[in-house]
Formats: sequence, C-alpha cells, structure tokens
Amino acid sequence: MGSEVSIKVKASFVNKYKEGYPLISKQLINNASDLTEEGMLINLVDEGHTFIGKGYYGKQNKGYGWVLTHNKDEKIDQLFFERKIRAALDKRKSFFKDQETTAFRVFNAEGDGIGGLTIDYFDGYYLINWYSRGIYTYKDHVLATLKNLVDYKAIYQKKRFNIEGKYIEEDGFVDGERGQFPIIVKENGINLAVYLNEEAMVGVFLDQRDVRRTIRDKYAKGKTVLNTFSYTGAFSIFAAIGGAAKTTSVDLANRSLPKTIEQFSVNGIDYEAQDIIVEDVFHYFKYAGKKKLTFDMVILDPPSFARSKKFTFSAEKDYKNLLKEAIAITENNGVIVASTNCAAFDMKKFKAFIDAAFKESNRKYRIEEEFSLPQDFKTIKQFKEGNYLKVVFIKKLNG
Ligand code: SAH
Repeated sequence: MGSEVSIKVKASFVNKYKEGYPLISKQLINNASDLTEEGMLINLVDEGHTFIGKGYYGKQNKGYGWVLTHNKDEKIDQLFFERKIRAALDKRKSFFKDQETTAFRVFNAEGDGIGGLTIDYFDGYYLINWYSRGIYTYKDHVLATLKNLVDYKAIYQKKRFNIEGKYIEEDGFVDGERGQFPIIVKENGINLAVYLNEEAMVGVFLDQRDVRRTIRDKYAKGKTVLNTFSYTGAFSIFAAIGGAAKTTSVDLANRSLPKTIEQFSVNGIDYEAQDIIVEDVFHYFKYAGKKKLTFDMVILDPPSFARSKKFTFSAEKDYKNLLKEAIAITENNGVIVASTNCAAFDMKKFKAFIDAAFKESNRKYRIEEEFSLPQDFKTIKQFKEGNYLKVVFIKKLNG
C-alpha cells in the first residue's frame, strides 16, 4: 500500500473498462512491468493519459488486480471499505433475518465492488478470504470496518494467495472469541457442521444452497441417489431428508468418510443406512457398470480440475465423458444434476456438452431447470465470468 502507478489500457479495451469491466488483466494493459509492489494503487489511463479508473495491484490466477472506482477523487481509504461493506451488508438484510438459514455470503468480491475479497457469515462467525497479497495489504481497513459495522463471535481468515497451499496460520483466527469446531449452522432448516479453522474448505459450499433445497423439496422422494465428488455429502443429506430411498456418496478423499458421517449425524440420520464410499469416481462408474447398478438420480459436481492416481479430469475437456458415464447408470426418467464451477466456459457451452453426451449415448433428454449463483453471491453484468456456477437438472427420457 502507499505507492501509486499509472497503467495504460490498450486502445481497443478502453471502452470495456469505461463500461465497468473490473479485472485488470495483463493482456489488456501496456506497461504491466511497472507493477512492482502488491497493494499499490493503479490509475488506469488511456493513450492520452485521461483517467479511466482506479484500482489496486494484486496477483491472482485471474489477473493483476481490480478496478475499485471510476471516480478520480474517491480515496481508497478506510471510508471506502466501509461504504462498500455497509452496502453489501444492507443487501443481505433478509438473510440476516432468516432463522432457517444462518450461513451465507455477505461480500462477494467484484460483485460487491472489491475484487479479491470475500466475506462469509456462519451463525455469528465471519470468514474473510483474501485472494491476493495485494488485497491483504488492506486488511486493517477491512477488519476495522467489520469491527465497526457488525457484532460477531469471531473473525477468521484464509489467505488464498499462498501457493504452497497453506491458507491459514495456526487456525486462521483473527479476532473475537475462538469457536469450538465444528459449529453447527442451519441451511433451510437443515444442520451443517462447519470448520473455519481448517485449510481451504469449511465443509459446505454456500453457493449450492438453492440446488440442495431443490433436490430435497422436488426430486429426492423415494429415489435412489448417487452423489459423486460428494466431499462432506451435503447433497446426500438434503436428499435423505427429502425422503430418498437411499443415498450413495462417492469421493476420493479419505476425509470425506468421517465428514459425511458427521453431516448425517448432526441431522439425526442413521448414516449406516446410507452408502459412503471412498473411491475414485471414475473407478466407481466402471464398478457400477459391471454390477449393473442404476440410480434414479445422479449428481455430478466435480472440481474444475483434478488429478487422481489413474485419471486427470478437466471440466472443459472431460465433462462430456463424465456425463456419458452418468447417463449409462441413470434409470429412464431419472434425473442427472450436472454442476460445474468452471469459469472457463459459460452455460451455453455447458449445455452443448450435455447435448453431445446424450447424442453420443443415443439417449433423449429434457432440461428440467437450471441454476447459477444464488442471490447472496452478487455478480455484475460487466463481469460474466464472475457468475461461474452452472447447474442443470436433466431428465433422461425413455427410449
Ligand atoms: N459436491 C460437493 C463439493 C465437491 S468438491 C459438495 O456439494 O459439497 C470436489 C470433491 O471432489 C473433493 O471432495 C475431492 O476430494 C473430490 N474428487 C476430486 N477428484 C475425484 C475423483 N477422481 N474421484 C472422486 N472424488 C474426487
């Protein structure tokens, strides 16, 4: 923080920035080599040195920083952060009032005006994610703002910029009174065990809230459900509570077994009546094929990129084949829930993968409904990539 630099936008992208595109990306600017110190302020200018916007330098896989304002006179100080965070809190008023859901996002990066920063709420606890060293240099402003604006049990943080994968120091605790983990939060009346003191993931992905509720309320009753890439089994819990005949959760990570048992248990469900399998999903598909196992519902929620001992999976390259595996073991009139958080392609392309997978499997389908990010994950129209979540409920038709 402190120093300032002028960065020239390439002529053909000046309008894009004027219209509010927030990401400062290497391909769109001229003198990237002037960016020396993360956190430094950037004045974006055109060829004639006319001011376009002000932002900060912070290296993320996505780019070199984010535009914060188009007002030349607006200072990036404590009050700036207060204005942005206060506005974000105001937009979540209905979430704060809802007794049935006590976990949601209160600040969604560029969607709320500050790229590289997210803040989630978990029943009185706040979790800050810093996505670059640059944004982390503003930590005192963000912390002071939270202290001014909200009551909290504690604040935790993750430094998502640490490439060695160490996102937390000790337990990530910042302020307040340390929690006893897991804390139990509620989502549409269902309990979820959450750990703010572990590495990257806390036990639940808040952006799938509407999908989980839809599975519980409209699709699960009486069905056999296969939940692949299941992590802590959140989709399985909602399916079981929605009356599924049985759920089968499959994840490669050893931790998924105790974590899924825990999520069932905090909801009073007998986990022994469910299947929880620690295995490579691609191996499981082969096994299911051999044993002629079929399911009424198959949930696919792979990471954008994953490497296991035998397989590498890239959503962009391999989603179609993943769908074909699922189609093969889904009952007629069964439903596939295809989900991806891959920002490299949009809904249109995702639907093209779905179409190709069914065509190549000689099967007909019908799209029942689709989801993108929920309301608390605020996005802006100038940054379509920010709305990364794509979920499609697909019915496999007879014949
Ligand atoms: N569907 C989950 C989130 C999935 S996160 C939810 O709603 O909470 C991605 C998960 O995929 C991780 O838990 C990871 O362990 C798992 N994974 C990655 N590659 C895998 C593979 N080849 N087979 C099974 N699981 C895999």
